[in-house]
Amino acid sequence: MRRAGRRIALSLAAIVLAGWASGAQQPDFDLLIVNATIIDGTGAPARRGVIAIKDGRIVRVAPAVSGAARERLDATGLTVAPGFIDVHTHADDLADHPAAANFVAMGVTTIVAGNCGSSALEIGDALERIRQTRAAVNFATLIGHNTVRSAVMGASQREAAVDEIAKMRALVFRGMVEGAIGFSTGLQYVPGTYAKANEIIELARAAANERGLYATHMRNEGTALLDSVRESIRVAELLDMRLEISHLKVDSPKQWGTSAAALALIDDARRRGVKVALDSVSGVGARRRRGGHPRAAQRSSHLAADQDRDQIAGRGARLHRSVVGDGRQLSR
Ligand SMILES: [Zn+2]
Repeated sequence: MRRAGRRIALSLAAIVLAGWASGAQQPDFDLLIVNATIIDGTGAPARRGVIAIKDGRIVRVAPAVSGAARERLDATGLTVAPGFIDVHTHADDLADHPAAANFVAMGVTTIVAGNCGSSALEIGDALERIRQTRAAVNFATLIGHNTVRSAVMGASQREAAVDEIAKMRALVFRGMVEGAIGFSTGLQYVPGTYAKANEIIELARAAANERGLYATHMRNEGTALLDSVRESIRVAELLDMRLEISHLKVDSPKQWGTSAAALALIDDARRRGVKVALDSVSGVGARRRRGGHPRAAQRSSHLAADQDRDQIAGRGARLHRSVVGDGRQLSR
């Protein structure tokens, strides 16, 4: 018994030694990001901590993490957050710029295209092209009203006939089945601006039936802003579908101050149970647009041309820091 016991003890020692030896070669983590200000995306306030990564996955997020790491990254003064979802882009040409460098430089890891009524017509083909490039960011797209209207009605500057609405509805349905996440309008643009409410409702319905959302660049963002907000909410309420009001703003100086009334309409709708959300252009972005920066930076919703990327990468990193810097803005 004693000899057998000793053998077991020795075996255990050998296992411990083997474990120690492999532990010396195999650090616990591939990467430790230390001294980070962490905003985890749950709405919780920013906090200091350590993020541990192994085999490409986050394995610990804690105030302190013990263990060896192949690499340590000191994030003092920097904020670490999950990748941002940019819900309003015109990066429909991701297959041509799969590195998406200007988005990645801003911390964006998922982009939504097909906004403002303009998208690929063949959603399945577009998604397959992007898939083949193994693009650096995740991609989702809406199917655009102007795109399907042009396909069915050309440049006609009139209301759609019943059979034309049926054809457009079939195209929206096909786009949804092929992977679109919703339907978008650009009612301030040609030809979307010629659409009456019934056309928009019928096409949005095709998306709603496939659990898609409705995103709209509204008919008017200035003198008729409030009517436009009401029109958008009406579609969502009637069809019980999610609404995203794109780049909500007051674009006419005479109407400045109307934003409070627009937001009140949205709050009222939300209290009634209508699923309304909105996105808006940040102050930083707006200032950038007036700053005479490279073309692609001015239009930050587009993919950058190669020659603009280095400049944008630097500016993107600064912008990223300034947007999330105090650790509170994102949790609101
Ligand atoms: Zn727009």
